[in-house]
Amino acid sequence: MKTFNLSILLSLALAVYCVPVPQFTDKDENFAKEYLYKFFNLTEESGPTVKRGGISPVSKKLAEMQRFFGLQITGTLDADTMAMMKKPRCGVPDTNIARYSTFGNNFKWQTNSLTYRIENYTPDMSVAEVDDSIEKALQVWAKVTPLRFTRIYSGTADIMISFGRYAHGDYYPFDGPDGTLAHAFAPGPNIGGDAHFDDDETFTFRSNTGYVLFMVAAHEFGHSLGLSHSDDPGALMYPFYSYRNPDTFVLPWDDVNGIQSLYGPNPETDPREPRPTYPTTPDACDSTMVLDAVATLRGELLFFKDSFFWRHYPQSSTPQQSLIINFWPNAPVSIDSAYESQLSDSVLLFKDRRVWAFRGYDLVQGYPKSISSFGLPKTVKKVSAALYDADKGKTLFFVDSNYYSYDEATKKMDEGFPKRVDETFSGLTSKVTAAFQYRGFAYIYSGPYMYEYSLRSGRMFRVLKNNYFLPCTNY
Ligand SMILES: [Zn+2]
Ligand SMILES: [Zn+2]
Repeated sequence: MKTFNLSILLSLALAVYCVPVPQFTDKDENFAKEYLYKFFNLTEESGPTVKRGGISPVSKKLAEMQRFFGLQITGTLDADTMAMMKKPRCGVPDTNIARYSTFGNNFKWQTNSLTYRIENYTPDMSVAEVDDSIEKALQVWAKVTPLRFTRIYSGTADIMISFGRYAHGDYYPFDGPDGTLAHAFAPGPNIGGDAHFDDDETFTFRSNTGYVLFMVAAHEFGHSLGLSHSDDPGALMYPFYSYRNPDTFVLPWDDVNGIQSLYGPNPETDPREPRPTYPTTPDACDSTMVLDAVATLRGELLFFKDSFFWRHYPQSSTPQQSLIINFWPNAPVSIDSAYESQLSDSVLLFKDRRVWAFRGYDLVQGYPKSISSFGLPKTVKKVSAALYDADKGKTLFFVDSNYYSYDEATKKMDEGFPKRVDETFSGLTSKVTAAFQYRGFAYIYSGPYMYEYSLRSGRMFRVLKNNYFLPCTNY
């Protein structure tokens, strides 16, 4: 059954978040305005109906938000923008469009010895777990700066920590479960530096159901120390919550850079110790980058690298980079290969001898499976690239310098394989690292290069750089 025609694919192009048609109710539109008002400084007097120079303030703010999050910049409320607005996040506005940013030099502590006080507790966790989460979250920042934190049990601390619901004593009421998780104030007297947590959330010590208090607190303390939000999706100071294992969490490079721009490095770091490696976010402008995998999905292109992937709409110039776990919490990272199965409307991700299938956000029942379920022999330890040939209904699995052909309709491996890659793709003798089919061509990556082949004749047309489909958009 091969029912996907082009018009269906186009209408599904924006539907990866499972919002099939971008049709919004008044309630949605008000929610969106409220979001822009809260996080993108949409002001009352410039109100939604007042137009200046033909572009409404709402449209301008929508475009600003879409740029910040690397979405397609349409200036209108579309399904992706709406989905972004519904993600659990920090309550501090997204004012600067940049990699790490600060509230400015006037908003930093003038001393390196700071005090903190935990005023009350959430019922979700034990007192010891809350204490431990807060302490560890502060240490994330102390490790890379001269800042030192001392806990006090009475009086006013620099950083007052509390849990509250709805209106809780400042001008920024919380919003019930999900949505805003917490907020914190830039360094300063009184409320400055304080961190508030929305007690309508379910906070946890380390489970990935609910919100890990350590992660939320580490982010908020970034604000307490003078950082504002970063548009680097790998940064701790990215406005959205994402689950990370608190036991293995290492502060990303963007945040280290940010906090050290205010306070300098930790003077107690032993110069004889090897410098720790801080996680960095893959950069589309890096011409030496070797992608893990490339796949299509409902008309979009997906580029995988480490814990991240980019989604690219062919009609847009800015690919959107996200953490894989933000889309597919059950997915592996640093995958080997991926392809879209149009017959089952799913994307398949391969890592070592296992394969995961996702439809929309959801792991398809029965997955992950062994790659033997495709009929690949036991000797195959990993699939280095996979390419779905829509014309023939075949998926090609690349393994070292060979490839296998799988029939998607009969769900069987074709006879006569494996073949040598260069038997079909002339001149391709180096290792295949990623592959996909697009508009009648096969694109086969080997390291940072990509080879364009006609699928029919096997003739190579061009050698292209890895950023041909993944434009470098840093400016
Ligand atoms: Zn924040
Ligand atoms: Zn508050």
